[in-house]
Amino acid sequence: MNIVCYDAHTFEKEFLLNAAAGKHEIRFLKLQLTPETVDLAHDAEAVLLFVNDEGSAPILEKLHALGIRYIALRSAGYNHIDLAKAKELGMRVANVPAYSPYAVAEHTVALMLALNRKLAKAHNRIRESNFSLTGLVGFDMNGKTAGIIGTGKIGAIVAKILHGFGCKLLGYDLYPNPTLTEHYGLKYVDIPTLCKESDIITLHTPLIESTKYLINEQTLDLMKTGVMLINTSRGGLVKTSAVLAGLKSGKVGYFGIDVYEEEKGLFFYDRSNQILQDEILAQLMVLPNVLITSHQAFLTDTALRNIAETTFESINAWAEGKESPNELTLSAKASAS
Ligand code: NAD
Repeated sequence: MNIVCYDAHTFEKEFLLNAAAGKHEIRFLKLQLTPETVDLAHDAEAVLLFVNDEGSAPILEKLHALGIRYIALRSAGYNHIDLAKAKELGMRVANVPAYSPYAVAEHTVALMLALNRKLAKAHNRIRESNFSLTGLVGFDMNGKTAGIIGTGKIGAIVAKILHGFGCKLLGYDLYPNPTLTEHYGLKYVDIPTLCKESDIITLHTPLIESTKYLINEQTLDLMKTGVMLINTSRGGLVKTSAVLAGLKSGKVGYFGIDVYEEEKGLFFYDRSNQILQDEILAQLMVLPNVLITSHQAFLTDTALRNIAETTFESINAWAEGKESPNELTLSAKASAS
């Protein structure tokens, strides 16, 4: 098949080429799919899209007019694709339903540990031959209460890891997982109780209407002073301006994020030669108790291999005139990233 891969990143190319196994012609584009770049998909039958590519109705119509019949998403989430329009046009869309919940869960815990033990500050000091320990006091994870909001694939692994540290576990989910209660002592509670009793709060629900700004002035008010907040799920779960106010007042003791509500156009790219226009992010970046990574929680070799292999599982099926096992239907619920 002739394939155009939009928003291709250096970190994934090798994995995609290996998974394609020389069976397909792939044109890699650094550009995202937008109304301005859609024409670049001419001559292709399929496009590979990433999380920030635009799959709106007008763009799908244009892709269809160019001869594109297949869209393989290199992500689990598909909230950026108009599935109804794709169906109407007879275009097949597939995603990567799961690639490695371990990657995201382990990064979540890495943020907790790095913030707690002030690893970024310590590392910078050592590079300047400053071997002082002043200001580097952390806390034992053992015995602390961790509140996990969303105990699906990723949240459950976070629970298991934190149980290993000796944390007490609280959880909130629409669908409680009895195994976590039975084997790891996780107690399901409501959001106010979780906020009031947790020393660490970590977010693992999808971003949907009911979870937008789950962390806001009211929920922050309920939390312990000095709480550690971690978000590796979706930026929109957190009202960042409210957390910034909480950091300034001391209510929030630590803030670790891999996602940010205004990350589009920033995260994944080198913007070091530009002036950052986002005032909230600029303030967060200089606070000593904030740790930000740019949506890299998924970035392990295992996850990249799984993403590439699942993507080409779909492409290979389509090339043989079959259905892909990862095809999305309109009834599918919007979920991951
Ligand atoms: P999952 O579907 O396995 O788990 C999500 C859990 O959230 C489910 O148990 C579900 O019942 C629960 N949930 C849904 N709506 C809820 C609500 N309103 N209140 C409480 N709980 C609710 O998903 P997952 O694979 O564990 O992924 C979790 C999130 O992680 C994804 O939605 C995605 O946004 C994020 N993610 C981030 C990265 C990254 O690189 N940072 C990578 C993959 C996924």
